[in-house]
Amino acid sequence: MGKSGGFMEFRRREPGYRPKTERVRDFKAVERLPADAEIRDQSARCMECGTPFCHALGCPLKNVIPEINELVYEGRWREALELLLSTNNFPEFTGRVCPALCEASCVLGINDEPTTIRQVELAVIEKGFAEAYIRPQPPAVRFDRKVAVIGSGPAGLAVADCLNKAGYPVTVFDGDKKPGGILRYGIPDFKLEKWVVDRRIQLMKDEGVVFEMEASIGDDISAHYLLTRFAAICLAGGAREPRDLKIPGRDLKGIHFALEYLIQQNWKLAGETVDPAVEINAAGGKVAVIGGGDTGSDCIGTAWRQGAAHVTQFEILPQPPAGRAVHNPWPQWPNILRESSSHKEGGDRRWSVRTTAFLGDGSRVRKLRCIEVEWTPAADKKPPALKDKPGTEFEIEADLVLLAMGFIGPKKSKLSDDLKLHRDEKGNVTVDSRCMSNVPGVFAAGDVSRGASLVVRAIADGRKAAAGIMDYLSTRRAPAGKT
Ligand SMILES: Cc1cc2nc3c(=O)[nH]c(=O)nc-3n(C[C@H](O)[C@H](O)[C@H](O)COP(=O)(O)OP(=O)(O)OC[C@H]3O[C@@H](n4cnc5c(N)ncnc54)[C@H](O)[C@@H]3O)c2cc1C
Repeated sequence: MGKSGGFMEFRRREPGYRPKTERVRDFKAVERLPADAEIRDQSARCMECGTPFCHALGCPLKNVIPEINELVYEGRWREALELLLSTNNFPEFTGRVCPALCEASCVLGINDEPTTIRQVELAVIEKGFAEAYIRPQPPAVRFDRKVAVIGSGPAGLAVADCLNKAGYPVTVFDGDKKPGGILRYGIPDFKLEKWVVDRRIQLMKDEGVVFEMEASIGDDISAHYLLTRFAAICLAGGAREPRDLKIPGRDLKGIHFALEYLIQQNWKLAGETVDPAVEINAAGGKVAVIGGGDTGSDCIGTAWRQGAAHVTQFEILPQPPAGRAVHNPWPQWPNILRESSSHKEGGDRRWSVRTTAFLGDGSRVRKLRCIEVEWTPAADKKPPALKDKPGTEFEIEADLVLLAMGFIGPKKSKLSDDLKLHRDEKGNVTVDSRCMSNVPGVFAAGDVSRGASLVVRAIADGRKAAAGIMDYLSTRRAPAGKT
């Protein structure tokens, strides 16, 4: 153990955010990086429990959290880095954007505040880059058989990184201009600055991964063509079909899906052009965000930075409790009220509200018509039910409406039709325990096979798919003409 009783000596302390008045004027990261001494104290809070739930249950990557904390406490940063990288390809992403499922299951969290595991992870990887412990390490030996990865989000990058390190030549194809998937074109810079993504992509390129951008598979290049050139393919195209709200007035101007809005802002920050005819801008406007989750919260932070006059976020579910409910005990993920950095920047949050219509002045949205709802909790194997509360109808002005109600699955694509892939009822590509689809040699990882989820799960899926591909290639003879 790093420090016996450290959890009694040190309180949980987070480095916190830049001041609100300063940060809403730019898109730079809101969260501060902790100093080494603070991280050492925080790592000392780890109790090295007999059963580390953080590692065994919480973290999808199975990061070896207690041992990493101990090494950090002892100042053995390089060893901590090696241990961290043995389970997580990209701690600089998870260290910044992960909701930290591990912290929710930290044993200290039973009756105290959990260890700051995410901050320790971030400090370890950033120390690795700062001290140049991380350098390109191309594989010593290369195999002949090539693998194509379709999609350069965290899942595709993890597949590519694992296979490349193992000696397989990998080409990553993506329809976008630059690699990163939602890391680059979705998550706002104030949560993840894009130099962080660029730094990792450059490292992967220096280690031999090839990126073919603006190449949409199924449209620009057929999947069958890839199958003749590559010994295996991994699909990692994400799950970006947004949930719509088909109510009266939906076709009015000024109503957009959240991701459309967030992508445009990321393009602008990257110096890419946005056609003024389709530009979505919150400047000076009253913004309504429908959907109370993280994507909605990213819209709020973006709207403030664009100069919105007011922002209101609506959620159909009831307001969660401040602490764990009795039916939601540790070490489950706590369904509690959370306040993101964007929420702290202002605006209103309304719960148990259903939007029934968008009202306009002819062509453009001007108002939302809403009603409060009541929820009956799940019982007798019946799901929770909602009913409108009579007499609670209200209208609220809005000239920009952002729909952030989640994603229903992968977008329909020519790629999956051409390959005749089996999909589940949500459209997710179905895979076996090796992550292989019904088409031999075609694998799938990340949101495309599990549905919209988290960066950490996408990386975990990518690692699993890479292992499946290596297993497949090692047990299969190459057909003539195919490497
Ligand atoms: C706005 C937003 C904010 C989020 N914030 C967080 C967060 O803070 N923390 C967190 O853990 N998770 C967050 N998530 C979820 C997380 O980003 C995703 O779960 C994760 O990115 C999924 O990774 P992926 O690699 O499966 O897919 P994606 O990141 O979606 O990447 C898919 C890539 O495939 C490419 N592609 C698709 N089809 C083709 C094709 N036919 N040919 C070529 N290329 C193709 C796309 O262009 C894209 O680059 C957020 C999601 C959104 C939408």
